Amino acid sequence: MSEFTVLNPATGQAVTTVPLTSAEQADAAIARAAAAQPRWRAVAPGDRAALLRRFAAAVDADTEELARLEIAGSGHPAGQARWEAGHVRDVLQYYAAAPERLCGRQIPVAGGLNVTFHEPVGVVGLIVPWNFPMPILAWGMAPALAAGNTVVAKPAEMTPLTAIRIGELAAQAGLPEDVFQVLPGKGSVVGQRLVDHPAVRKIVFTGSTEVGRLVMAGCARQVKRLTLELGGKSANIVFADADLERAAATAPYAVFDNAGQDCCARSRILVQRSVFDRFMELFEPAVAGVKVGDPASADTEMGPLISAAHRAHVASYVPEGAPVAFRGSAPDGTGFWFPPTVLAPVSVTDPAYTEEVFGPVVTVTPFEDEADAITIANDTPYGLSGSIWTGDIGRAIRVARAVESGNLSVNSHASVRYWTPFGGFKQSGLGRELGPDAPDSFTEVKNVFIAT
Ligand code: NDP
Repeated sequence: MSEFTVLNPATGQAVTTVPLTSAEQADAAIARAAAAQPRWRAVAPGDRAALLRRFAAAVDADTEELARLEIAGSGHPAGQARWEAGHVRDVLQYYAAAPERLCGRQIPVAGGLNVTFHEPVGVVGLIVPWNFPMPILAWGMAPALAAGNTVVAKPAEMTPLTAIRIGELAAQAGLPEDVFQVLPGKGSVVGQRLVDHPAVRKIVFTGSTEVGRLVMAGCARQVKRLTLELGGKSANIVFADADLERAAATAPYAVFDNAGQDCCARSRILVQRSVFDRFMELFEPAVAGVKVGDPASADTEMGPLISAAHRAHVASYVPEGAPVAFRGSAPDGTGFWFPPTVLAPVSVTDPAYTEEVFGPVVTVTPFEDEADAITIANDTPYGLSGSIWTGDIGRAIRVARAVESGNLSVNSHASVRYWTPFGGFKQSGLGRELGPDAPDSFTEVKNVFIAT
C-alpha cells in the first residue's frame, strides 16, 4: 500500500505518513456504505438526531486535538483552527435538528390524496479540497447523514489528518459502522471511484472549476446527483460614500484570510476613483499590520501556503517587474511563506486580475460610477462572493442585486454562515449548501397517491 507524507507547511518538515486508499479498497468501502444505508435510514429520527448531537459533543471535546492537527498538517493559524473545529461541532448540532423535521406534504386530489416523502438518496460521496479540510467536510457530512444517507468522504491527499480524526470521533460517538467512512487518497483514484461507482448516488465536490468539470461529466454518465462548489474571483467594491476607514481596515481579512486560499477571497478591490488615493493610504498600514507567522502562536492571523508547488504557482502571478504597490511581511525560513501582496495599477488582461490566484495577492482598480462598478465586478466567469461598501442603503441593495454572485455582504467582509445558503453563480458552482434546506438536497421527493 502506498503512503503520503503530510508536511507541516510552516516548516516543510514531515508530520506523519498516511496510507493511500486503493481503488479496490474504495470499492469495498462504498459497498459497505451501501449495505449500511438501509439500517441507517431505519434509525428513528429522534435517535438519529441524538447520535448527531453525540457526534457534535465528541468533536467539541476534541477541539484542541483537531486544532493541533490542522495547525501541523495545513498550517492554519491556531485561532482559525480552533474556530474551524468549533464550526464542525456547530454544523453537526444545527443539522441534528433535521431528522425530526424532514416532513413531506399532503395534497388533496379528486378521489383521494397525495402525500410526499423525502427519501434519502443512498450513499453520498464527499470530495473535499485542502484549503478548509474541516468546514467543507462538515457542510456535506452533517446534512447528508441527517437525511438518512451513508457518507464516504475523501479528504484532499495533502490534508487528511482532521478528516481521519473526525471519522474516529463519529465511531466513538456511536454512529453505526460504515455510516461515515473517511478514505484518504488521491483524487484520481478514490475521487474518481466515488464519481464512477454506481452505488454512490450523489457527489458533493468542492475544488477547482477544472476538476469540477470532469466530475460533472463523470456524474452525467449515470445521471448522478451533484453539488459543485468551485473557484472564485470576487470583488470588494468600495464607493466614495463608504466608511473608508472600516473598508480599508477589513479589506485584508476579506482576501488574506487562510493566506488567500479561500474560494470567497475578494481578490479584486474596486474603489471609486474620487477616493482611490485615500483608500490606498489607509489600506497600506492595514496590510502591513496583518500578523503573518508561526501558525501555533495565538496572535497569528495568516500562516503559510499549503505547499512549495502552490507557492511557486502563487509567485507566478507576481513576476519580476509586477506592479507591486506594497506588501506585508512573511517569515524567512523553510516554510511555504508568501507575503500579503497588493498590485496596482494592474492591467485588465493581467492573469493576477483575471485568474483565481488562491494566495495572498490582491489587485486594486478604480471605477467611475455605480454602473461601471457592476460591469467590472461581473466581468469574470466566476460568481461566488463579493462585498459592497457604501453609506447609501438603496445603492447597496441595487448593487447587490446586480452583481452576479451567490454570497454578498454589505459594509462587512463576513460572507459564510452555516444557517444561510452558500454557493456560486456561473462557473463558481452548481447547487447550494448550508442553510435550513440543505438536508432536502440529500433526498429525493417521492409522491404517493392514496385512493379514498
Ligand atoms: P482540486 O480541484 O484539485 O481538488 C479538490 C478535490 O478533488 C481534492 O480532494 C482532489 O483530490 C479531488 N480530485 C482531484 N482530481 C479528481 C478527479 N479526477 N476525480 C475526483 N476527485 C478529484 O482543488 P484543490 O484541492 O486544489 O482546491 C483548491 C480549489 O478549490 C480552488 O480552485 C478553490 O477555488 C476551490 N474551492 C472552492 C470552494 C467553494 O466552496 N466554492 C471552497 C474551497 C475551495 P487530491 O487532492 O487528492 O488530488
